[in-house]
Amino acid sequence: MSVDAETNLILEREAALLAPYAMHSADSAGRKYPESSQNYRGPFQRDRDRIIHCSAFRRLSHKTQVFTGEMGDYHRTRLTHTLEVASIARTLARALRLNEDLVEALSLAHDIGHPPFGHSGEDVLDECLQNMGGFNHNAQALRIVELLENRYPEFPGLNLSREVLEGQSRRIDKSAAAAASPLLEVQVVDAADSIAYDSHDADDSLELGLLALDQLLAVPLWREAAERVRRRFANLDDRQLRRAIVHELIHWQVDDLLAEIERSLLERGIQSVADVRRAPALVAPSSEVADLKQGLERFLFKNVYRHPNVEETRNAARQALREMFDILVADPARLPAKFHNRVAVDGAARAAADYLAGMTDRFALDEHGRLTSAMG
Ligand code: MG
Repeated sequence: MSVDAETNLILEREAALLAPYAMHSADSAGRKYPESSQNYRGPFQRDRDRIIHCSAFRRLSHKTQVFTGEMGDYHRTRLTHTLEVASIARTLARALRLNEDLVEALSLAHDIGHPPFGHSGEDVLDECLQNMGGFNHNAQALRIVELLENRYPEFPGLNLSREVLEGQSRRIDKSAAAAASPLLEVQVVDAADSIAYDSHDADDSLELGLLALDQLLAVPLWREAAERVRRRFANLDDRQLRRAIVHELIHWQVDDLLAEIERSLLERGIQSVADVRRAPALVAPSSEVADLKQGLERFLFKNVYRHPNVEETRNAARQALREMFDILVADPARLPAKFHNRVAVDGAARAAADYLAGMTDRFALDEHGRLTSAMG
């Protein structure tokens, strides 16, 4: 699907602006179902738009990131987390002259496979499907964009560019020894995801009263960020200090990451996408920041992700999902009509998991009520 760069505004623009090691739309491997190109909108822009218009993306607004809806409305949902990731990833991409459209498409799609109720929802579905490959939110995101979204008469799924699909598939098992490294655009989104949640999970936990500011100030990454803030602003109250620390944490990590990437690109003489593919991972924080981030993540894991208030809402959610799964597998006719053909292809268990995974937190609880009361 080679397109003449001189007659295509987007390709011309990318040729002028992007680094030689960025993924240029002109070099895209295209789509499974070929489509004609557009002069005013590049392929990755089109992918981005398709993701924004799909229903799995809209439902992110009512899915738990870490904290459930009933805990208030300050904290991040999966949608706002996704937008924070896209925002940080775009900043990184622009500074490095990478393909921002591709980075945005990857960011917006990265969490659309998450079931309701965060990681506890994922754990339950994984148990339900343990004899048939299990459940993984990254793999589910691929199922959604390749199969389950049904918006276009010409093809199943969203028919996204191969580079977006490859980027998402690289998230499934990061430990797997792969023949080639992911594109820099893919690596940058992964780093932005980590910067976003390390900063916002701590912020949300403070707002919800799960943590006290003093506890976090004992964690070296937070302490260092707080010291940086205090050197500039002497008289902040706790709330102002907290917000300034979150801002500083993002800013510091982005700065550190950019400096490290620039250094690696230079050191390894990276000049092309082929060089990126051959090199080991190029996007990583400095060892100093990596250690500090690990310290914060260990702290959050112990004190937030396992907090009794968080666990309590989780247990109810786990039970509701498990009960719905059993009911639907025992009687697949109770699945909505659009899942009936999936029962025929993939079996009742996988089809039930697809249905459950697509639910928002609220819909899952309502549907649980309907399914269990109709049991009589
Ligand atoms: Mg994420």
